[in-house]
Amino acid sequence: MIKIKNSPVSQIDFFGFDLLIKRDDLLHPDFTGNKARKFAYFLEKDLGDIDKIVSFGSNQSNAMYSLSVLCKLKNKKYEYYTHHISSFLKDNPVGNYKYALNNAMDIKLYNDCPYSFLKNNRNLFSKTRKIGKTLFIPEGGRCETSRYGINQLALEIINYKKIKNIKDLLIFLPSGTGTTALFLQKSLLSNNDNSKVLTISCVGSKDYLKKEFYSLETDNAYHPKILDTKNNYFGKLDCQLYKFWIELQKETNIEFDLLYDPIGLKSLFEFLKNKKINPKEKLMYIHQGGIKGNESMIQRYKRKCYENF
Ligand SMILES: *Cc1c(COP(=O)(O)O)cnc(C)c1O
Repeated sequence: MIKIKNSPVSQIDFFGFDLLIKRDDLLHPDFTGNKARKFAYFLEKDLGDIDKIVSFGSNQSNAMYSLSVLCKLKNKKYEYYTHHISSFLKDNPVGNYKYALNNAMDIKLYNDCPYSFLKNNRNLFSKTRKIGKTLFIPEGGRCETSRYGINQLALEIINYKKIKNIKDLLIFLPSGTGTTALFLQKSLLSNNDNSKVLTISCVGSKDYLKKEFYSLETDNAYHPKILDTKNNYFGKLDCQLYKFWIELQKETNIEFDLLYDPIGLKSLFEFLKNKKINPKEKLMYIHQGGIKGNESMIQRYKRKCYENF
């Protein structure tokens, strides 16, 4: 059985600021990032008579790919529903889509979906559900089972603080559904750790992310702090962000993901420039993986931004 615990921590110079990077991109060659944390529960648990896993979402999502790895490792069938697959993508598979197909993903359209709760009410679907021998997992692992692996992440961070004698830690990570940030803050507090989690919404407004937090946890004492931002349009190509991503790589020698990290690290940089961070407070950024998805993003960015540089 593979182990996904204990990712290393890199200490880097981030445009003049000291930054610790929790390298969840290095958890395991195939099963990495926050999706590996979210799905660790299913990796470690005996899945009993379950013979198929079903999930849904975008046709390039990191969760889609990670579940294909999980199903391969656990020898389960894998069915995935999405809105649309362009004929260009079908003819030229790339990125997460390509690698998930290589792992025997059976990808279908919602129109052809026999499960009405996925076809019509998938936004409300936020709990794993077992029907017969099929296990249904909500989009992006936005469900309670994700707490298990994210708690392991919290324990690793607490242990790192002990070893390095760090008293005050500010942890920053960019959010999609906010599941990782929320469960991380909750696990830290539940383990009597005082680290603060700070995040930013990459897929919608600050209010959208707050609502996501409330849907997962009604007690807002557990909610991470959300940085202000102008609305981000998720997945929309922004040549400035691409340029920043290239600079990041030169500056840090680390490959970050192209969907969340440029937004996250750019806001972190602004935050550091504008606010005086307590000198005693250490700062840690969580690298949440997603590198497989860069292949398709780079292709799109090169087409769009080539003439700009
Ligand atoms: C899924 C993902 C996120 C967002 O995680 P949430 O728990 O939905 O907030 C961020 N970064 C990467 C690389 C991801 O794959």
